Amino acid sequence: LGGSIARALQQMSNATIIDEKVLSECLNEISRALLQSDVQFKLVRDMQANIKRIVNLDDLAAGHNKRRIIQQAVFNELCKMLDPGKPSFTPKKGKTSVVMFVGLQGSGKTTTCTKYAYYHQKKGWKPALVCADTFRAGAFDQLKQNATKTKIPYYGSYMESDPVKIAVEGVETFKKENRDLIIVDTSGRHKQEAALFEEMRQVSEATKPDLIIFVMDSSIGQAAFDQAQAFKQSVAVGAVIITKMDGHAKGGGALSAVAATKSPVIFIGTGEHMEEFEVFDVKPFVSRLLGMGDWSGFMDKIHEVVPTDQQPELLQKLSEGSFTLRLMYEQFQNILKMGPIGQVFSMLPGFSAELMPKGHEKESQAKIKRYMTMMDSMTNAELDSTNPKLMNESRIMRIARGSGRSVRDVTEMLEEYKRLAKIWSKMKGLKIPKKGEMSAL
Ligand code: GDP
Ligand code: MG
Repeated sequence: LGGSIARALQQMSNATIIDEKVLSECLNEISRALLQSDVQFKLVRDMQANIKRIVNLDDLAAGHNKRRIIQQAVFNELCKMLDPGKPSFTPKKGKTSVVMFVGLQGSGKTTTCTKYAYYHQKKGWKPALVCADTFRAGAFDQLKQNATKTKIPYYGSYMESDPVKIAVEGVETFKKENRDLIIVDTSGRHKQEAALFEEMRQVSEATKPDLIIFVMDSSIGQAAFDQAQAFKQSVAVGAVIITKMDGHAKGGGALSAVAATKSPVIFIGTGEHMEEFEVFDVKPFVSRLLGMGDWSGFMDKIHEVVPTDQQPELLQKLSEGSFTLRLMYEQFQNILKMGPIGQVFSMLPGFSAELMPKGHEKESQAKIKRYMTMMDSMTNAELDSTNPKLMNESRIMRIARGSGRSVRDVTEMLEEYKRLAKIWSKMKGLKIPKKGEMSAL
């Protein structure tokens, strides 16, 4: 997505005369990219109209930075779409709140309930979990397991088949115990069936939740708007959590969910583990959607993980867009030191998905070490070169011999370098925000 938007903007920058037609073509190109990223058709159309209204052709023609003006407008529009205008109900520590989770089966409700509880527990809350899913066999066991692992009290039953009864009993029990965050997990169905919505309504009426959270799987693509709307029409959805953002999902569904529920996204799920749960932040999300990388998160991680004396140089190189083999070597060193691989670089497009696929951390680590061994056999000139043609056959053979690896291994390592250098080069000229300052453009 980032690529095609960048391309569209580039083409427009190259045009000598910026008129209605050139702008339209550029916006069409951007719209296509957004559609491919699962942003709903109607939203894309609205955005296009808004941008046409906002962007002043005279400004563009006057030679102001055209790319920047349009990019900024797209960025702002997408941010606006993710902001429903009013915050969701926020539970207060020490006061009793009931939060009910709804969503289709498999969307990640039960997992997310526990993540949400665990997140708050770590901050000193006293959460509790109620399993009102009597539809799926094993639902209670799953919640029980999650709750036990995280040491969170839970309520449920193997016998009772009435979800409303369990929900009410559970909520009452935990209210008496002065729990401040009582979370009700409900059942889902494979489809948006009438029976599911009726059950949801009843549980909601009986437990009177302070907040209803709609949980949505990010990989459902263009179906997001209709699904979210169907839930909103049945119960008073007040917030959204998008799950499975770690997969191939493109994220555009989040915009649809906000538009359909008029509620903000409050968290995203980024994995199956309890810790893989992040507070949702609009600007970095939009940056990522536009393929610009998550700069604020990335910068925070750089400050956290990269040794202080190396930070200025790394940032300098980032903005120059030049990526040498030595820089790759140094980043590999950092990655290996970090333990859980790829925390920092997972935020940059390209660095994690291909080099360090999730679930293959061990192999990735071995691969990185192998690459480093080969790079140990390189000369300073080779490590510091920005000329890809330098690495000719005789150099490759020398490195292979020196490191005891095959020519194929060395070639593979150099291919990886080229891939990363290409990604890196896209960052050239980007203004890199300082710690705590978010400026995606
Ligand atoms: P429910 O039917 O809505 O309660 O969904 P579950 O909580 O049972 O989750 C369905 C599947 O999705 C399980 O295998 C979860 O481990 C998985 N899952 C939930 N959230 C995430 C996430 O953020 N990332 C990934 N990769 N998997 C998730
Ligand atoms: Mg469940």
